[in-house]
Amino acid sequence: MKQRLSILGSTGSIGVQTLDIVAENPDKFEVTSLAAGSNWELLARQAIRFDVDTVVIADTTKYEPLRQALASHPIKVFTGSDSLSQIVRSSEVDVVVNALVGYAGLHPTVAAIKAGKKIALANKETLVVGGDLVMRLAAERRVPILPIDSEHSAIFQCLAGEHSPIRRLIVTCSGGALRDVPKEQLADVTPERALQHPQWSMGAKITIDSATLVNKGFEVIEAHWLFGVDADRISVLIHPQSIVHSMVEFEDGAIKAQLGTPDMHMPISYALMFPQRASRPSEQFDFLANPTLTFAEPDRDKYPALDIAYDCMRRGGTAACVMNGSNEVAVAAFLAGKCRFIDITASIEYALSKATFVAQPTLADYEASNEESRALAAEYLKL
Ligand code: NAD
Ligand code: MG
Repeated sequence: MKQRLSILGSTGSIGVQTLDIVAENPDKFEVTSLAAGSNWELLARQAIRFDVDTVVIADTTKYEPLRQALASHPIKVFTGSDSLSQIVRSSEVDVVVNALVGYAGLHPTVAAIKAGKKIALANKETLVVGGDLVMRLAAERRVPILPIDSEHSAIFQCLAGEHSPIRRLIVTCSGGALRDVPKEQLADVTPERALQHPQWSMGAKITIDSATLVNKGFEVIEAHWLFGVDADRISVLIHPQSIVHSMVEFEDGAIKAQLGTPDMHMPISYALMFPQRASRPSEQFDFLANPTLTFAEPDRDKYPALDIAYDCMRRGGTAACVMNGSNEVAVAAFLAGKCRFIDITASIEYALSKATFVAQPTLADYEASNEESRALAAEYLKL
């Protein structure tokens, strides 16, 4: 039986690579629905190529051109914020690939879990914001959440077949685009410079998050929820080569690592095919051509966002939701040339100092907290 996919964020970096895996494995997968933000041309091409039933475009101004482009095909076209949650519930869907960016990913994940769908999760913000609620719901409904984020996929691969307790998770970090820029120069960094990631080609938001290390902080929170490991037992190591994708240490001192050339097709295919592996024409890693793998402590003074994320994780409740909401506004402002690079972390600190804290949030509390933190960041940045 083929697995029937709903791919949210199909026109983005992860979405496009997910469709590569589908195209390589036509006997294993078919695509029921696709959703995107505003790139209606690519969405239309994908919809025709993969012969999907339904597409959703978030940007309402792109609904009409998309509808016209698909007029001669039997493809349903929707827009509007509830459409994502609706398509993932369809009885024609087995697996939801959540490759949306930002807070927008939370509600569709919750809807998909409630409908009993297996989740292949790239949208880390789902767990950063609502990890507590999402993991409880997934356990209740016995829905597997398979990580696509490369570090979490690495940890998940290291845990395959293990039944013993974890002593420590070691999340590796490339250091981002600005790892060689001194702290004093961060104020003058342009968006173009901060978008030049040394190892990975990704969407703009996560590339900036990688440069501030907000992304690594988020990944620590993501690992906490996915693997049930406390903050004190998750460490971050700078590993500029991005070959070791993360590690797990066990109580007997053994450390397992997952290695490979940086390529998101690998973790995406693992999430989709687990417990099997894909057969891919990928590059074979050459140890002799890369004889040196190095590791270093992150510079917590240069990158305050890492400790802020640890703090949010320890506080629980809506703290990480506030970090996420304010970060989204600040990253968009930085990319639009409306604030400096260092204002991103400053906006997060401001929002966290002012926002209402809810210890045991419901979905509605997360919604309110997201709105409030976005408004606080906008206030701080005078947007
Ligand atoms: P991206 O910006 O390239 O793509 C995002 C996709 O979501 C696009 O298709 C966009 O149109 C769509 N989208 C955005 N808002 C939407 C909305 N409101 N409704 C419908 N569609 C919407 O981002 P990306 O780099 O592919 O990242 C996606 C997620 O995966 C992020 O959470 C990111 O942190 C995570 N991730 C990405 C990578 C990577 O290599 N790109 C690696 C690990 C984790
Ligand atoms: Mg990652």
